[in-house]
Amino acid sequence: MIKDLVTDEAILSTPCEPATAEDAPVAQDLADTLASIEDAACLAANQIGVTKALFVYQDDAGEVHAMYNPKILMALGGAKVAESCLTHEEPSTVTRFAKIKVSFDELVDGQLKARRRDFTGWVAQMIQHMVDHCKGKLV
Ligand SMILES: [Zn+2]
Repeated sequence: MIKDLVTDEAILSTPCEPATAEDAPVAQDLADTLASIEDAACLAANQIGVTKALFVYQDDAGEVHAMYNPKILMALGGAKVAESCLTHEEPSTVTRFAKIKVSFDELVDGQLKARRRDFTGWVAQMIQHMVDHCKGKLV
């Protein structure tokens, strides 16, 4: 279901609770809402008002993935970049890393499975932005 975006800083700055397999409907809402926004490639649960550590992103092939409970384990090649946000008006300058190693959970057959994967470039940047959202950190 397409949800309204939340711009309330009190909600956006609340650190998110761990997400569980029961949050699968939230992941679907995120995917539906993301698809409804032009030029958007990622969306965190708290941006639709659900303070759970969960987000969706679209990869270079246009496929949408949901990541539960993401943690950045390692980051290499930091550089300052200007970044904008769907739920924050002013673009800001932040340090983002070119290569990251992430642990996260993926929903497989109704259960969360622990994963570890490396990401680079644009997808790595989006994931770092989304992990900040999950921590309640506004860029
Ligand atoms: Zn954002």
